[in-house]
Amino acid sequence: MSSRAYVGLGTNLGADLHATLTQAALRLAALPDTRVAALSSAWRSAPVDAGGPDFLNAVAALDTAVPALELLDALQVIELAYGRERPYRNAPRTLDLDLLLYGDLTLDTPRLTLPHPRLGQRAFVLRPLLEIAPELAHLATGEDWHAQRIERLGPLSL
Ligand code: ATP
Ligand code: CA
Ligand code: CA
Repeated sequence: MSSRAYVGLGTNLGADLHATLTQAALRLAALPDTRVAALSSAWRSAPVDAGGPDFLNAVAALDTAVPALELLDALQVIELAYGRERPYRNAPRTLDLDLLLYGDLTLDTPRLTLPHPRLGQRAFVLRPLLEIAPELAHLATGEDWHAQRIERLGPLSL
């Protein structure tokens, strides 16, 4: 049985942000029992609640048989491979992979909360997500995400 999951990718540290996103998407495609059903464009966004350089963001739609918690484990292994450190909250990061949605699963634990609790307020999540899944527009519940600075750069090819 496979589920449709959406993963948010973000990076704002490193020599080649575009390459980081592409390679991370390839790592997602290489997960067992998983295919990348859709990949958004790369979007450039201003950091929200944080300083530092602009982010490059994207969202990938996965069809996967990997259970949600195992998928989160796998995302964290990929983050670590890119040197992700967590020196303080909202610190700049080489790679952040958030599990935005996993089928219609809802979960409220510190380790994994689904849907991702801040997804509906963040332009850097919503713009790429709605680019590939416009039917999810009802998830955009925030008030001010339209005002957040973000621009679409162009397609990411795998
Ligand atoms: P934010 O969650 O606001 O985007 P962040 O991505 O910077 O912040 P992290 O430091 O990457 O936060 O993650 C902190 C913890 O959040 C992780 O260790 C993870 O266990 C937990 N977490 C809970 N729900 C999710 C989810 N849906 N996707 C990813 N991590 C989650
Ligand atoms: Ca995040
Ligand atoms: Ca995260």
